[in-house]
Amino acid sequence: MNQPGDVRKSETFAELLARVRACTVCAAYLPNPPRPILIASPGARLLIVGQAPGRRVHETGIPWNDPSGDLLREWLGLTREAFYGDSRIAIVPTGLCYPGTVKGSDLPPRPECAPLWHPQLRAAMPDIRLTLLIGAYAQAYYLGERRGRTLADTVRAWRGFAPDYLPMPHPSPRNRGWLKRNPWFEAEVLPVLRERVGTLLSTGDNGAAPELP
Ligand code: SF4
Repeated sequence: MNQPGDVRKSETFAELLARVRACTVCAAYLPNPPRPILIASPGARLLIVGQAPGRRVHETGIPWNDPSGDLLREWLGLTREAFYGDSRIAIVPTGLCYPGTVKGSDLPPRPECAPLWHPQLRAAMPDIRLTLLIGAYAQAYYLGERRGRTLADTVRAWRGFAPDYLPMPHPSPRNRGWLKRNPWFEAEVLPVLRERVGTLLSTGDNGAAPELP
């Protein structure tokens, strides 16, 4: 008998999404009834992995629908229309449901979530060429011990994770100080990111990674 986390080869993509959206595995720990928030389609080439939805995203049901999303779109060189309307972009956070807050700060993504859903969703999106690992939780799940001592160390070592992964800081307004202290990120990494995203989303291109500068 299938376990919830098993990849089911005979399942359609729509059936998989329906199972994700009906998930209640950690409902007892969430402040609201589960509302998994993701965008995914079988032809996705770019996967964006953030932490977990905040309150505003939970309420609207639209991922990255907040000031962090505005800066992320600027980093990617994408309009809102392209970001939400291109089926080659998948958005699957480390925790799919809003985990609540403590003392005004968002709680971490529920630890059950990524191991349960990411392997299944990735298996159903075989054309993904690049996964953006946004923030420490996404980097911890995907890179494990390959992470650096700090987030800056991990992001600075981005070439070592190419072409499959790109670790990035979270584009939260709270991270403005980090971006100021680490100007190399915008100067060195963002141009490469924009070029890579442009290639992945250009019609007729096979999405292969270009040579790193
Ligand atoms: S956070 Fe993840 S594991 Fe928990 S109920 Fe939502 S989808 Fe399921």
